[in-house]
Amino acid sequence: MIQTEEMEFAPRVIAPENIPEDGDIEVTLRPQTLHDYIGQEKVKEKIAIYIEAAKRRGEPLDHVLLYGPPGLGKTTLSAIIAHELGVNLRVTTGPAIEKPGDLVSLLTSLNDNDVLFIDEIHRLSRAVEEILYPALEDRVIDIIIGKGPSARSIRMDLKPFTLIGATTRAGQLSAPLRDRFGVIERLELYSKENLTDIVRRSAMILGIPCETDGAAEIAGRARGTPRIANRLLKRVRDFADVMGNGQITQEIASIALSRLEIDQLGLDSLDRRMLDMIIKGYGGGPVGLETLAAAIGEESVTLEDVCEPFLMQLGFLGRTPRGRQATRLAYEHLGYTPPEQAASPDTGQLSFNA
Ligand code: ADP
Repeated sequence: MIQTEEMEFAPRVIAPENIPEDGDIEVTLRPQTLHDYIGQEKVKEKIAIYIEAAKRRGEPLDHVLLYGPPGLGKTTLSAIIAHELGVNLRVTTGPAIEKPGDLVSLLTSLNDNDVLFIDEIHRLSRAVEEILYPALEDRVIDIIIGKGPSARSIRMDLKPFTLIGATTRAGQLSAPLRDRFGVIERLELYSKENLTDIVRRSAMILGIPCETDGAAEIAGRARGTPRIANRLLKRVRDFADVMGNGQITQEIASIALSRLEIDQLGLDSLDRRMLDMIIKGYGGGPVGLETLAAAIGEESVTLEDVCEPFLMQLGFLGRTPRGRQATRLAYEHLGYTPPEQAASPDTGQLSFNA
């Protein structure tokens, strides 16, 4: 069905996680220093102080937990921290560390004050997590040698190191693991101004002529997410090459993004389908997430991780104990007349996944 293909196509453009079409571009565009890392001022300020203090004392940085939706720069910030500390960075992910032995070999291969970055740290297995506790707290690991009655445990010292854990779901982290991080920082969705700067910087690196208005148009529709902004820039460049002289203007960006079914506020067809179903199918809500996902034929995690943080930031969606609710603003944006009792936007409910 042609329509299905189109529907699947649109959400991918705004997928906040890394997708194959991003290719090497992510690496090329990754800022290397705190100075080049745009936005997240509060986090940056604190991290800069911790880095400076650790360097002066010649000690490793405290263990850091970064959380927030995908594509906001957690991996980038970790690489910057290692770079600014002048140490090596080892990168891995929770699911990639299958056995305790995998983590042991990672930890024992680190040099003094190195940074170990574990993405999706909430997906570590219990057995692996237990190796991590003494490693983080006392810089030791306990290894069991042999089997059965002759098995014995030996304790090994580790070199000083910093663990940086990243997660989209801080709430799924076990309390003992969370407690072992000295620094816990949440990355926020980016403002349009910051994203405009990010698009301009990326355009400059990629040699794409881009007017400030054109960058702002892309930024305004990038769901507060640098990864999406960079991807949209690439897509808009194709339109600029074919429709114009390669220069990204506000007009070309606007036409291109509309063709990609991304509206003025950055909502794509999936966001609109979700809101539409709440409003038309369930009288504005509240409706449970699973019911909603089944009704529109989507995975509930996609709605929760991709659509909700952004719709809540816009004040279009409320999360109540009884389910999801469309706000007055959502009705208006989709061109419906809100009922008298429609919920007002309550951005105070912006407690994504935590
Ligand atoms: P996460 O690990 O949170 O999923 P990444 O660190 O992989 O996100 O960031 C995705 C892309 O967005 C990077 O390739 C980088 O180019 C860009 N990016 C993220 N944060 C920033 C920032 N603060 N300034 C400039 N570019 C950024």
